[in-house]
Amino acid sequence: MTEAAATPLPEYKTACGGKLTAPTNYPSAMYRGERVYFCTRACLRVFEQDPDLFMTGEIEHPEDGG
Ligand SMILES: [Zn+2]
Repeated sequence: MTEAAATPLPEYKTACGGKLTAPTNYPSAMYRGERVYFCTRACLRVFEQDPDLFMTGEIEHPEDGG
């Protein structure tokens, strides 16, 4: 007999280096053909201003609630 293993929640990486398990609750954008997720709307806004710089880590993601 086999036991059903608990199904782990899929994890989605954010553009800022974090992880999400419920990406539909977070803003996202397309970058080079892939969907990327952001921890806050402020992060998304910074990304949209300069996607390449953001994705290469040249721009730090903003503090939430700033
Ligand atoms: Zn962020």
